[in-house]
Amino acid sequence: MGLGAARKTALVTGAAGFLGSHLVDRLLDEGYEVVGIDNLMTGDLGNLERAGRDPHFHFQMGDVRQSIHVYAELVFNFACPASPVHYQSDPHATLTTSVLGALRLVEMARGRRCTIVHASTSEVYGDPTVHPQPESYWGNVNPIGERSCYDEGKRCAETLLNDARRAWGVDVRIARIFNTYGPRMAFDDGRVVSNFIVQALREKPLTLFGDGKQTRSFCFVKDLIEGIVALARPEPIEGPVNLGNPEEFTIRELAEEVLRLLGSDLEIIHAPLPADDPRQRKPDITRARELLGFSPRIGLRDGLRATVVDFQARLAERSPKGR
Ligand code: NAD
Ligand code: UDP
Repeated sequence: MGLGAARKTALVTGAAGFLGSHLVDRLLDEGYEVVGIDNLMTGDLGNLERAGRDPHFHFQMGDVRQSIHVYAELVFNFACPASPVHYQSDPHATLTTSVLGALRLVEMARGRRCTIVHASTSEVYGDPTVHPQPESYWGNVNPIGERSCYDEGKRCAETLLNDARRAWGVDVRIARIFNTYGPRMAFDDGRVVSNFIVQALREKPLTLFGDGKQTRSFCFVKDLIEGIVALARPEPIEGPVNLGNPEEFTIRELAEEVLRLLGSDLEIIHAPLPADDPRQRKPDITRARELLGFSPRIGLRDGLRATVVDFQARLAERSPKGR
């Protein structure tokens, strides 16, 4: 699993975000010199507290839509708002970050010894008609809906990166990441895991959108980062690789699990299902298992427990009563 002992440079875009910051910590542990770029659209410098104490970490405030002047042997492209609430708040920024961010990295990497590991998403499958979703499925995506800035931006970035590999031999790796959760998710991020945990800790009713029968498969961040690091192995990997935990839950089951964990009997209230909300989602991880030995180990209950502990600590820091 190791990335090698020599101190090479890794660039992480979106370094101050949820996933980017965990990746930065992991790369520092692996012995990399790490440069992090972020414009703080949704990120938080607090996520980089540990990295900030490491002399091998260097932060640059910057926007991936501009030229990137960092040279790194390994690039992890994680810059992009990821929660529907955030990415729909500025659709133009979301789409241009995906597409121009990928373009700038190709410009940087072209003609150099450089591997780009790109954070794509299960959203490229849209509201899937094939279940579970293998990488060979082309998806069912609305090109002009409220989610399109994200879904189509990510699809276009995949196209751009694959063309760069075919035309110029740029070494690109594409991770199609399925719903991932864990410590450091933003309180106001609007994704279901953070919403339910914050609501439960604040003793507010849990907001279930639609009938709650829609499904997602939730991967704990530590497992996901293992997959990302494995994907950055020295030998090239062509084509996208699904990374996620195939254990599938309805959103109602998730709400009940959060309440069970906290010993709470709070009310679950219903709100309308957002437009184009996928009915089901579950990764087929055969390819990741075979190529990378990827095998998520942390089940929903343990992962949620660790996430709740982190949220409790951060909420307590914000207010002495932890509310
Ligand atoms: P996040 O919002 O916590 O992190 C995204 C980071 O990118 C933030 O720090 C933000 O400030 C930064 N950013 C946004 N636009 C930028 C720009 N133009 N220039 C520089 N920085 C910019 O989200 P996350 O959950 O950590 O997601 C990270 C990546 O993983 C995203 O590309 C996302 O699409 C992908 N992903 C995440 C999940 C998940 O479940 N968490 C699932 C699929 C894909
Ligand atoms: N959801 C919900 N209550 C919330 C937030 C989200 O019921 O407070 C639902 C949402 O409609 C979707 C699922 O939970 O069906 C996952 O939503 P999230 O935004 O976390 O991720 P995505 O839809 O991008 O997979």
